[in-house]
Amino acid sequence: MILMATAISMTLDQRIDEAAKSLEPKVIECRRDIHQHPELGNREFRTSKLVADRLKQLGIEIRTPIAHTGVVGILRGAKPGRVVGLRADMDALPVTEQVDLPFKSTVRAKYNGQEVGVMHACGHDAHVAILLGVAEVLSSIRNDLPGTIVFLFQPAEEGAPPGEEGGAALMVKEGALDNPKVDAVFGLHVTSRYPVGEIAYRPGAELAAVDSFNIKVHGKQTHGAYPWLGVDPIVVASQIVLALQTIPSRQLDVSLAPAVVTVGAIHGGVRNNIIPDDVEMIGTIRSLDEKMRSDIHQRIKRTAEEIAASGGAKADVTIEQGYPVTYNDPALTEKMAPTFRKLTNDVIVVNATLGAEDFSFYQQKVPGLFFWLGTRPKNQTAEEAASNHSPLFYVDEGGLGLGIRAMAHVAVDYLRSAAPSP
Ligand SMILES: [Zn+2]
Ligand SMILES: [Zn+2]
Repeated sequence: MILMATAISMTLDQRIDEAAKSLEPKVIECRRDIHQHPELGNREFRTSKLVADRLKQLGIEIRTPIAHTGVVGILRGAKPGRVVGLRADMDALPVTEQVDLPFKSTVRAKYNGQEVGVMHACGHDAHVAILLGVAEVLSSIRNDLPGTIVFLFQPAEEGAPPGEEGGAALMVKEGALDNPKVDAVFGLHVTSRYPVGEIAYRPGAELAAVDSFNIKVHGKQTHGAYPWLGVDPIVVASQIVLALQTIPSRQLDVSLAPAVVTVGAIHGGVRNNIIPDDVEMIGTIRSLDEKMRSDIHQRIKRTAEEIAASGGAKADVTIEQGYPVTYNDPALTEKMAPTFRKLTNDVIVVNATLGAEDFSFYQQKVPGLFFWLGTRPKNQTAEEAASNHSPLFYVDEGGLGLGIRAMAHVAVDYLRSAAPSP
């Protein structure tokens, strides 16, 4: 009887925290299970089934498959209100795990025609486990939930296999944010940059847009001793490589936002005394502002084409668009910041990074907030800790509890803030 009275007198916040705390061991166990059974992008069959089964057990309506192996869960609260989307990505990476854990991955798979090890080297195992925990927490307060939660379990964040569509873009295309129409979307990422217990975020541009380019320089093959008889694409390509560096350093207003242009590979020629016909180079472009992004594309094209023309060569430039800027809606971010601060004293506003996230595709449709969850062991420095994507990447599970609370509180506080006052 006393227990019941306590339960009744607890606030919604306290009930969320209690539920999150009691579910922590289950979330850790789930994370270990997924860690031991990692699956590459668009091949998350086991993970997807595990997610769908858990959601069904909780009485959550599901929609699957979506975007190949995705699962959307819809939890309708007993009270009317808005719709909030919570996202977890499910895919692992072609990395062979080197961390010595009892639940270490020994899985191997085919990737790009090669046999590779498969590992949750970006921590998406933790994201799935956390969000399943959040689904259980929020189901337990369903009667007091003023609105609807849409759980977005998404495949292939790290990119779909060549020739396939996938990830957040395909989730959006297949209507993950429609029916019910999502009003705001939240996501988190575990990282070894920040220690356990810390939440980090940035209003506005937080992660970069990523695009790739390919430049083919066509010259005219000739003897290495008589360059005037041909057109040397190697010298032209060298000029282009250097000139591309002047785009971020000399042409863009870097006081607005940083940008990077990197040539990652360059191929041409077979022999010391032959000037070849062609040189091909590929690279990556990172930017934090959508206007700057398209400006860089035009400048790369112009730089390569006109330098090539000046040497009598021809450059064919193709730019493939990757992920947009991960842009945290400033008003939404400001609204949710007090929620983070009520959960922990260790909330920091951080610099943008030039990594990328396909969470950005949801943010193109609806206001969204993506934040970092620290999972670095407290006895390690950021420099000592292996980064995401490393075969030594390690998630300190002591950080997962805060992840469950953060996602649950953010969802509920957003719904409460938008609910009509009683
Ligand atoms: Zn990653
Ligand atoms: Zn990731």
